[in-house]
Amino acid sequence: LKGLGLYDGKIVDLNKPAVLLEDRGYQFGDGVYDAWKVVDGKHFLRKEHLDRLERSCRLLDIKPCYSREEIEGFSDSLVEESGVNDGAMYLQWTRGWESPRSHVFNENLRPLLSGSIIPIPPLPLDAWTTGNKVITYPDQRHLFCHIKTLNLLGSIMAKNAAHRNDCEEALLVREHQGRSIVTECSSSNCFAVKDGVMYTAPLGNLILPGITRAAILGLAGQCEINVVEEYVSPEFFKEADEAFFTNAIAIRPIVMIDGRPVGSGNVGPVFQKLNAKYQKMMRGN
Ligand code: PMP
Repeated sequence: LKGLGLYDGKIVDLNKPAVLLEDRGYQFGDGVYDAWKVVDGKHFLRKEHLDRLERSCRLLDIKPCYSREEIEGFSDSLVEESGVNDGAMYLQWTRGWESPRSHVFNENLRPLLSGSIIPIPPLPLDAWTTGNKVITYPDQRHLFCHIKTLNLLGSIMAKNAAHRNDCEEALLVREHQGRSIVTECSSSNCFAVKDGVMYTAPLGNLILPGITRAAILGLAGQCEINVVEEYVSPEFFKEADEAFFTNAIAIRPIVMIDGRPVGSGNVGPVFQKLNAKYQKMMRGN
């Protein structure tokens, strides 16, 4: 199975050139994106992801030139024409193209929609029985973390440092109001569990409001797990009973931070409970 691309509303070959040199997304990272999972040929939480994509556009004054229905249609076509049953859907809006490039943008540009579908094999079962390792890494990103912008350099450097250290993710650490806090991961939200209480960073401009984060908070409510949406320190994460991270592609237990085991070093019961519910939710039962 092969991936398939979308550029300016047309289905295209993913591996052939399509992007305009003067597209502001290419020149400036002047754009936004969203991504969700396709499970058994169905779009998982597409409405929520498209709501966030619209909000990202609004916050940057990008005015989409397709309706919600048209965008749903493009994503349906990507699934149908690619034949991908399990995969990742990606859509991005850039502010449009103009030449010569200029920091000052023309208010009347027609934005450009592009995207792709990529097949992803269902995760191996041991992805959540053996757990994942993470490192801590300085959060060097801008202050637009609540907008899903194309400016991902801070995330990319963090994720690659993690991979070089044989880790799956990086817990991003920022100095904030005189203390050291964990914001989120390079492409995930993160949670710590201590004495049965689940902690995660509050919504605000220092984290992305994850769609999976919201789903997990909903499931935690159903399981009557107490949740505290407050910043905690990297030390708190290291001394937690359990930790995990979430994104639209996967939710994963963290069993090691900076080479030291978290809690017992095994996947914890809170994660297992939430994961069981989440897997069911994803498969529509
Ligand atoms: N934080 C960041 C920085 C991300 O890039 C992502 C992935 N898009 C997330 C959190 C998780 O968000 P979601 O659950 O909506 O995929």
